[in-house]
Amino acid sequence: MNVRWTIIVIASLILVACSGDPAIVEQSGDEAKQEKFQWKLVTTWPKNYPGLGTTPEYFSELVERMSNGRLKIKVYGAGQLVPALEVFDAVSQGTAEMGHGAAYYWKGKVPASVFFTSVPFGLNAQEMNGWLHYGGGLELWRELYAPFNLVPFAGGNSGVQMAGWFNREINSLDDIKGLKMRIPGIGGEVITKAGGEAVTIPGGELYTALQTGVIDATEWVGPYNDLAFGFHQIARYYYYPGWQETGSSLEFIINKSDWESLPQDLQAIVEAASRAANQNMLDEYTARNNAALVTLVEEHDVQLRRLPDDVLIELHRITDQVLEEFVEQDPLARRVYESQKMFQEQVANYHKISEEAYYRARRLR
Ligand code: CA
Repeated sequence: MNVRWTIIVIASLILVACSGDPAIVEQSGDEAKQEKFQWKLVTTWPKNYPGLGTTPEYFSELVERMSNGRLKIKVYGAGQLVPALEVFDAVSQGTAEMGHGAAYYWKGKVPASVFFTSVPFGLNAQEMNGWLHYGGGLELWRELYAPFNLVPFAGGNSGVQMAGWFNREINSLDDIKGLKMRIPGIGGEVITKAGGEAVTIPGGELYTALQTGVIDATEWVGPYNDLAFGFHQIARYYYYPGWQETGSSLEFIINKSDWESLPQDLQAIVEAASRAANQNMLDEYTARNNAALVTLVEEHDVQLRRLPDDVLIELHRITDQVLEEFVEQDPLARRVYESQKMFQEQVANYHKISEEAYYRARRLR
């Protein structure tokens, strides 16, 4: 009996293995798994620059390990394959399959892109990630980049930045008049409207620009990144808070045809690795910013200054004006602006009694 049953079971198994459809599906799955991809990823940062440049490296290593080497992504620093501010076009045209940078660099081409990095007095990192992944932000971003043959993903967040390095004290709005400052995005328009002059210069060129007096001030990121560039050697005053960038998101962009050429499992790996890299950057900044700040103040004698309240109030007022004018002629920019603004109002309502109330509570002793 046992032998007969064994024979019947084996015979059935052979029949199942030989029946057409499952075998064909398995075979094509195997073929897809064997296909290997080699991608180029161009960035707007110097190669391996702390946090900004190491985030795409982290991403590429993760993808290679998760895919068992089926998707290899070589990361190029700014200028190695294309200049920093040509990353968008290079990926759009397929010169590289992928890019990493900040959406607001493309403001001249795609105005609404500014909302996907940061706008002044906007969302913080936690809120930005909430809006992108659960508040409709990512869908709007994909709609915005679709005409350029690009698929965007969140690619890191700096947290609240510093207001920047200044060669003069800012005691009132008058001190901004005539100030030539490197400050991208809407923050730049606010500075211009306040009587200054905003310019966009890639990070790698900032030190020289500030040193030679081409600019009087620059914002960059925060202590961890700013220390690495050595701005303390050429500017005396380090101002906070970073009203202009309150939780700046970086971006991964993928050429749409290349994205569609990936099998679904590799797409899932790219998606998961970018989400991990996005969070990882914020974790690193959270851990390292204060240590760098202590070094700047204690070892390099940097003068830390808070922007006066009346300057912040005025910058906020100008920001509201600039944003309203900015979205006036651009229906998609208006939809993005309104989606983000509504999200901010709703989240702020709860954050007032959670995050804010807790920050206050733990200082009470
Ligand atoms: Ca910045």
